[in-house]
This record gives sequence, C-alpha cells and structure tokens, in this order.
Amino acid sequence: MNEFKLIERYFNWACYHSVSLGVGDDCAIIDATPNTQIVTSVDTLIEGVHFPKNTSAADIAYKALAVNLSDLAAMGATPKYFTLALTLPELNEAWLSEFSDALKQLAGEYQLDLIGGDTTKGALSITINIIGEVETGKALLRSGAEVDDLIYVSNTLGDAAYAWQQIEQGDTPSDFCLERFNRPTARVGLAQALVGMANACIDLSDGLEQDLSHILKHSKVGATINIDAIPLSDPVSVYINTTQDWCIALAGGDDYELCFTVPKTYVEALKTIEKNLGIALTKIGVITKDLGLDIKGLNKTCASYQHF
Ligand code: ADP
Ligand code: MG
Repeated sequence: MNEFKLIERYFNWACYHSVSLGVGDDCAIIDATPNTQIVTSVDTLIEGVHFPKNTSAADIAYKALAVNLSDLAAMGATPKYFTLALTLPELNEAWLSEFSDALKQLAGEYQLDLIGGDTTKGALSITINIIGEVETGKALLRSGAEVDDLIYVSNTLGDAAYAWQQIEQGDTPSDFCLERFNRPTARVGLAQALVGMANACIDLSDGLEQDLSHILKHSKVGATINIDAIPLSDPVSVYINTTQDWCIALAGGDDYELCFTVPKTYVEALKTIEKNLGIALTKIGVITKDLGLDIKGLNKTCASYQHF
C-alpha cells in the first residue's frame, strides 16, 4: 500500500456538509455561509508529550480531535470541517484502521467533515486543523470579562492530570481518571448555550490558573477565586485531602472543561443550562478591578504546563 491508497482507504469519507471539493485535490474548497464568521484552530499531539507511548490508536484519534473541538467550543462556534496531518513511524494497517474508525466515530457525533490533510513518515504526531462557524460578532472571546462578573467552570478539574501523574509514577490510575485523560469531552453544546450570556470564555487545556490568567490579561481585569469552590471528583478530592497538592486541580492541565465569566443576572439561566445539559457548572470566584489572580486558601504557587 502506498501513501495515496492509504489516504483513499482510511481518510476519504463521505461528507455531511456541502463541501465543494474534499480530499483529493491540492486544496479543499468549502462554501462560506452568509452572516457567519469562520473560526479555526490547530493543535498537535506528540507521542510522549501529549500521550504516553502505549496509548491505543483509538484513544489517540479521539483526543487529537477532542482537543481541537474544545478550542472551537471555547469560542461558542459550531464545528464543521477538519484537516489531518499525520506523521507515522510505519505503515501499520491495524493501527490505521483503529485510528480511522475512532476518528470517524467522533467526527460523526459532531457532523464534522474531514476535507484534507497530509501524510508523512517520522515520529508519531497528529496535527488537526479544525474549522467552524459562528454568527458574525457572536464568538466568545477571552477579552470580554467585566468587573463583578461571576467566574464559572464546568464539571470537575484535575482528573486527567491526576491520571497522567499516576502513569508517570508507575501507578495505575482509576478507570474514571484515565477516561478523562484519554477521552476529554469538548463542551461544544455548553459553549453554544453560553453565547449571548458569557462575557468571556476559555477552554482549560493548561490548567485553571494559567488559562484564567489569559482571560484576566486579555480583559484587563483581575479575579479572586476560592480554592474550596473548585469542583473535584472523588478520586482527586481524596488525593488532595491526603497530599494538600492543590496544584493538580489548578495547574495540572488537560481538563478540556470551560472557564467562563457571566454577569450576575444570568445565575438562574445557568441553572437551567446545567439541568438541560447535565453538566455541573460551579461558581469559583469573581472578576475584580484589582489586577492579578488571587487564589484564596492557596499558600503556595503552582507551575502550569508550558512547552518551553
Ligand atoms: P499535495 O502533494 O498536493 O499536498 P498530498 O499528496 O499531500 O497532496 O495529498 C493528496 C490529497 O489527500 C490532498 O487532497 C490532501 O488534502 C489529502 N490528504 C493527505 N493526507 C491526508 C490525511 N491524512 N487525511 C485526509 N486527507 C489527506
Ligand atoms: Mg501534501
């Protein structure tokens, strides 16, 4: 099998949307929708950096697409298309088949079309460029937070980081934390529900402390959050109670939950969203005029993930 047969067999799928030209030519061509803006983002996953060496092809495919979906979600956008740049150490059909099936399955859940890519030989890495749409002027930005906004996060924090830490230490994480690490759920529906309500939004990929700080910097405001308010799952709660290592939830990364700020008037509306979507939304603090992030109850600093 050569490169082109590989692409044809594993990555040339039927499209959900009216794509003028998909896989096969030099570029893909997609029709622009009136009154919308194109929202696009790219993320790379590298073996040993973003996932451990023995991660299954299905889990790698899932995470590669989910982290991109999470970026689009953070903007309140509707995902529509993606391209895939795949670097493989060898042509392993069993691996490719598992990877392609898992990718297609998740793409199908969001009616996301694979419209092109690149296939090369080298150390395993997966780059996905995702493209979506948002009604013109309606995207959720990092820069919109206002003084007295309430700060919320979805679901629980620290689960994935706890799993990764346990793997690195040679321990076996719980199935729950491992699933949170390998198969993060992008909060696409939640973010769309927040359009018109949230003043600022970000997805938590590098840890709450660092990612909330991005909102503060872009919005030129500060925040006070309360450490006791951070939502924790049972395993992470037990771990923190034993070790006092709050950094796992504040700076661990890989949560792919949303952190957003809303004016107080939307508290009741948020309860409705929470109920309708079945995703816990927890108020963790408030936006302040005084710059900087004040974490009440934390008596040390945490180092969030940075590549360099
Ligand atoms: P070019 O040399 O013009 O860049 P390629 O030979 O790299 O084209 O790719 C041929 C076609 O297959 C292009 O339409 C490209 O977008 C698509 N393609 C290549 N690799 C992938 C992949 N992993 N997934 C989806 N489409 C791919
Ligand atoms: Mg190419």
